[in-house]
Order: sequence, then C-alpha cells, then structure tokens
Amino acid sequence: MIYLDNAATTQVDNQVKEAMLPYLNDIFANPSSKFYKSAINANDAVKNARQNVSELLGCDDEEIIFTSGASESNNFIIKGVSDYYRDQGNHIITSQGEHKSVLESCKFLEKNGFEITYLPIKENGHIDIEDLKESIKNNTILVSLIWANNELGALNNIKKISKITNENDIFLHVDATQYVGKKEINLKNSEIDFLSFSAHKIYGPKGIGAAYISKDDIGIRQNITPLIHGGEQEFGLRGSTLATHNIVGFGKAAEITNKNINSYYNHLEELENYFKENIKIKIPEIMFNGNQKNKIPGIINMTIPGIHNQLFIKSVKDELAISTGSACSIGKPSHVLSSLGLDKNQIRSTLRISFGKYNKKNDISIFLKKIFNYITNFNTKFQ
Ligand code: PMP
Repeated sequence: MIYLDNAATTQVDNQVKEAMLPYLNDIFANPSSKFYKSAINANDAVKNARQNVSELLGCDDEEIIFTSGASESNNFIIKGVSDYYRDQGNHIITSQGEHKSVLESCKFLEKNGFEITYLPIKENGHIDIEDLKESIKNNTILVSLIWANNELGALNNIKKISKITNENDIFLHVDATQYVGKKEINLKNSEIDFLSFSAHKIYGPKGIGAAYISKDDIGIRQNITPLIHGGEQEFGLRGSTLATHNIVGFGKAAEITNKNINSYYNHLEELENYFKENIKIKIPEIMFNGNQKNKIPGIINMTIPGIHNQLFIKSVKDELAISTGSACSIGKPSHVLSSLGLDKNQIRSTLRISFGKYNKKNDISIFLKKIFNYITNFNTKFQ
C-alpha cells in the first residue's frame, strides 16, 4: 500500500512506538499519584514530553495543555473563551475554510446567542486581510482562523492577522494542525493567544493533541472555561487521568520533528515539485486548487476534468491511499472546495494527495501510472 494521505494522519514513527511501550507495561502508574516511584517516573515522563512539545512551538511548558486532539482543542478554546468573555461581546470571526471542529463549535455558539462572521476564502483558499479588518466590530471577542488549510495547504497570513487582532484587543486562536511540523514556529515572539494541534499529524499517536494558551496576558490561564470539569490535571483546565503513553509518544514525535523540520520541509517541497512537473506533462488540463505560491508543501488538491474521484479511488483502493478531501467530512461535498467556487462537477473530479516523510519519488511514479492508466482505459467521462 502506497500511503498518500498524510494530511488525514501519519504513520507512527518507530522511535515513537518504542518510547511509548514502557508506559503501557511497567510504568503504568497514574502520573498524578505523586508519592511512589513509578508514579514519579510517569510524572517525569509527562514533564519531559511537555518540554519537547513546547520546544517545537517555541513557548513555555506551562502554556501547553494536553487534550485528545485538535478537534478537542478547537472546541475547548472557542467555547471556553466565548463563555468566559460573554459579557464583553458576543461576536466571533472565523472563515468558511475552517475544519469542521471549528465550524461546528461556532454553529453551536450561534444557537446560543453568539453572532458569527464566516469570512470567504475565495479562489486562493485563504482569507483577505481587508475582509477581516472590515468585519471587526465593538463586540468582537475572538478571531479563529486556520494556519494551513487541511484540504489545500493554503496559508493564512497569521503574522498580519495577529497584528490586527492585537491592535484591536481581540483574542486570536489559530488551528495549526497542518502547519505544526512543517515550518518553525516561535510563539514567544508572536501575538497568537491560542493554538490547536495534534500528535498524529507529526508521526505521533492518535488520541492526543494540545492547546497552547499564551500566558503573556495577565491571568489569561484562568480566563477560560474548562471543557472538561474534573480534577486538577492540566492546570485545572482539563480533568481526566493523563494518557501517559500517548503524551510520551507526542513528546517523542515533537522531539524528532523539531530536530528534522527543515529537512522534512525540503523533502516535501521536492516531492511536490516532482509530482506537479510530471502530472502536467500528461494531463495539461489539470487544475491545482488554492494558492500555489503561498502554501505548505506536501498537500496537493487537484481537479482533473472528466475523472470521477470516488470511482478512481475505489479502483486503486488496494494499492493506493488517497482521498477526495478531509477525512472528517466523509460523504459530503467539501465545504472548502465549494467556498473556492468549484461547481459540483469540478468537486467530483477533485483529489487530494498529501505526502509525508516516508514517501519517495517512486510512490509518485506509481500513482502517476495508475491515474494515467485509469484515464486511458476506464474513465467514462460524466456530464
Ligand atoms: N484541524 C485541522 C486543520 C485538521 O486537519 C484536523 C485533522 N483532520 C483537525 C483539526 C482535527 O484533528 P484531530 O483528528 O486531532 O481531532
């Protein structure tokens, strides 16, 4: 199986798996139990992992709150901030290109008295800064925007956006799930208040992620409503026994990623260039969706006129793992592609492939052979 769906999830790195195993066997103690050796060892492992994750983001250890993944982090921040600051305003700005966990959190708030502005993403796949400026009102409390789009790779200009939110005294939450591990991040020098991300996109385990909560603003840590009320874990913001093995795996994945981030980037860029050059030779009518200059490498969203995406994917399902878009919106036409202005036929002819550190040029050659073969022999053009 050639795996070309790394935006959906990545293969766990062997070193990550090895690092996790002791915490499923001997060191199974609850890290919050404190007073005996194996609990102390588990607690030390959590501390070490938190440090590795914070180093990847260039922030302090206490600014990392472990969650079950980016969906939970998005829910936590959006609902937690809006609940806490409700008295100061009920307007939130987001975009049509967000992940479902952001959009559905906003829809939930809309039913509960909040007003949400969904900025358009137009054909580039990112918001227009002028649209953001114009949408700010006196009662705006939060802007929540994706950094790198999970279907397109298109980048929002978070530096410019954070300057605007900062000048207007509005909190900024960034869904950085696809960005983390692709490019260096230094949150200490940023004006980002909250950030969401996940381990399973950087060769770590599933079921673990984190929310970054900046402590620059005095008391910000206290000024958010917990999503899970319970014990004192995660600074009282997320009760529940810590998943030590998953946290350790996340820490190891962050450590490996941090050391190799530039070579990973170059590798993805090389694969993307090789892919585009070669597919264009045989399919000149191919259309690459979203901004192709301002994107993270490795996520390629393309429309091949006349091809039926699901039939193609099914025809190669034993050999190739590719997708039509986000794994979190299976069965529905992509809201991101609709926001770009693609019509129903174009959406039906669209594929997303996403590369990771284990992919080689040969994987691309096999994909190309399959798609050329499908177009030549099997594709019956639909209207
Ligand atoms: N946001 C983005 C941009 C994503 O790509 C994903 C994963 N598809 C998520 C949030 C949700 O992440 P998780 O699976 O960790 O909940």
